[in-house]
Amino acid sequence: MRPPVLLAVDVDEAGLADVQRELDDRYARHYEVLCLPSAAEARERLETLAGEGVHVALVLAARELGETTGVELLGEARRFHPQAKRALLIAWGEWGDAGIGAEISEATIHARIDHHLVRPLSAPDERFHHAVSSFLVEWADDQRVAPHAIHVVGDSWSGRAYELRSTLERCALPHRFTLADSPEGSAILAEAMPNRPLPVIVLPDGRAFADPSNADLARVTGSPPGTSGEDVDLVIVGAGPAGLSAAVYGASEGLRTMVVDRGGIGGQASSSASIRNYLGFPRGVTGSTLAQQAWEQAWILGARFVLMENVTALERTEDGLVVRISDFPDVSARAVILATGAEYRRLGVPALEALSGAGVYYGGTGSEAHGHTGSDVFVLGGANSAGQAALHLAQFARRVTLVLRGESLERRMSHYLVRQLEATPNVAVRLDTEIVGGGGEAGSLGRLVLRDRRTGAEETVPADGLFPMIGADPQTGWLPADLSRDEAGFLLTGADLPGDAWPLAREPFPLETSMPGVLAVGDVRHGSVKRVASAVGEGSVAIRMLHQLLAADRPAAGEPAPVGDSGARATG
Ligand SMILES: Cc1cc2nc3c(=O)[nH]c(=O)nc-3n(C[C@H](O)[C@H](O)[C@H](O)COP(=O)(O)OP(=O)(O)OC[C@H]3O[C@@H](n4cnc5c(N)ncnc54)[C@H](O)[C@@H]3O)c2cc1C
Repeated sequence: MRPPVLLAVDVDEAGLADVQRELDDRYARHYEVLCLPSAAEARERLETLAGEGVHVALVLAARELGETTGVELLGEARRFHPQAKRALLIAWGEWGDAGIGAEISEATIHARIDHHLVRPLSAPDERFHHAVSSFLVEWADDQRVAPHAIHVVGDSWSGRAYELRSTLERCALPHRFTLADSPEGSAILAEAMPNRPLPVIVLPDGRAFADPSNADLARVTGSPPGTSGEDVDLVIVGAGPAGLSAAVYGASEGLRTMVVDRGGIGGQASSSASIRNYLGFPRGVTGSTLAQQAWEQAWILGARFVLMENVTALERTEDGLVVRISDFPDVSARAVILATGAEYRRLGVPALEALSGAGVYYGGTGSEAHGHTGSDVFVLGGANSAGQAALHLAQFARRVTLVLRGESLERRMSHYLVRQLEATPNVAVRLDTEIVGGGGEAGSLGRLVLRDRRTGAEETVPADGLFPMIGADPQTGWLPADLSRDEAGFLLTGADLPGDAWPLAREPFPLETSMPGVLAVGDVRHGSVKRVASAVGEGSVAIRMLHQLLAADRPAAGEPAPVGDSGARATG
């Protein structure tokens, strides 16, 4: 089999030679490096490679290519190789030209390029290689060919195999599903674990497990088991962006911090294919990468993680706050941060609920997009998450239809996403439409029934995949009944608390719930912004507030001193 291709094109001979030198030196062993002097040759070669079924991992193009521009060529490259990463080469210092910034931004919004890249300077140019290898990691992750991918081998895409894939997805662990009766599946099983009940998990180091529980899966993939019966300063419930941020700040400021999540790490964000509005990531970042790095940061700083365990109750006793965790001894804490976010709403169509994992996928596109290469898929929803899902799927699927009940995309979606969707040729939008039924042969989705909300007319359309992105509900049902919530169940905090709900003489701190010492951050909080950055911000602010709160509530002599600065009272 031919190796994947790295293709560069530049009409400037010296510039092309620099790129060729760097690519050959570093990548020629595992990739075929093609450096071409004209757009015409590049176009022809891209078409030929597509016809021969050869993968192109990366296309680099100079800004000016004579008869055309690099942006135009990279836009065309997507037609032949939708999964290739495409970057525009710019010269060192060119970012001083405001016009180029606007050109790159415009080209990115219209999905003509994925990234830009500064031309290599002296050899070896490690910055150039850092960028190239980041593109290649993204490409390998998308292709599910990253060597650290975990294999899930099952006899069907649905059922327990789907649950395991979802669990791995939520732990931000790259994985790849293979049917047991396929040649690849049989080979993996023969080597790793013949004659064992399916599904089987095979780790990159060769260890194999037959149908592990979620908790076992968390342990064997590296989550420390946590210490039983522990007494800590802070329990954080939820390891989404808000909880991870609180963990990083709490642990770094010396609080004994335990994070518990009933899933893995990253929360909702782990299903986001590309977060482009988070500070510091000009090229965007996948939710799972962000989660993985935040988890590692918190872990290195000393936070303890208990994953795949549900927090079932929270009580105040004479000794402080007690957190009850399923299959785990109670944990006592001086303070608790609730970062439990929100959970996806279900479609409520029984025929489609039955196909969950077999064509109907809740919670984003992460692990399923690749499996829908060449398919016809539908995304249901009108918010940013639906727009992002449609764009991500468009890199793989033949056609993506975005279905929404509303009469315009603009009402709930960011302008930049609307423009990107309009500019993506294989995305169609159906307004004023709902999904009322569906089904399929052989236990997997094959069709959907769409209803026009204006006329009531129903239409059955072929569909290989459905990704409902129709909002989420707060995860607060397990909390004490008298903890103040709004009518939708989101937690009230600080100044939003009704006067009669607050039991102490002091004012509540801004993120404090009606239970003193218990803070709420991120999406679960009434009035929160529902963005990664704001969840992360609230997580860090909560730690600052916690120091003040512990100082305010435990000032008596002999009490353990609060960590960090103390004594300041928030104004509420
Ligand atoms: C597909 C998608 C794309 C998105 N894209 C973007 C984007 O591009 N930019 C952006 O800014 N925002 C984006 N968002 C929104 C963003 O992801 C959320 O605002 C953010 O994740 C909220 O973080 P959080 O930590 O408050 O909650 P969550 O991310 O919801 O995490 C909550 C965590 O709490 C855990 N939990 C809940 N109850 C319990 C319990 N009882 N016991 C133990 N654990 C519990 C859950 O398992 C979960 O891991 C996107 C959301 C989705 C779904």
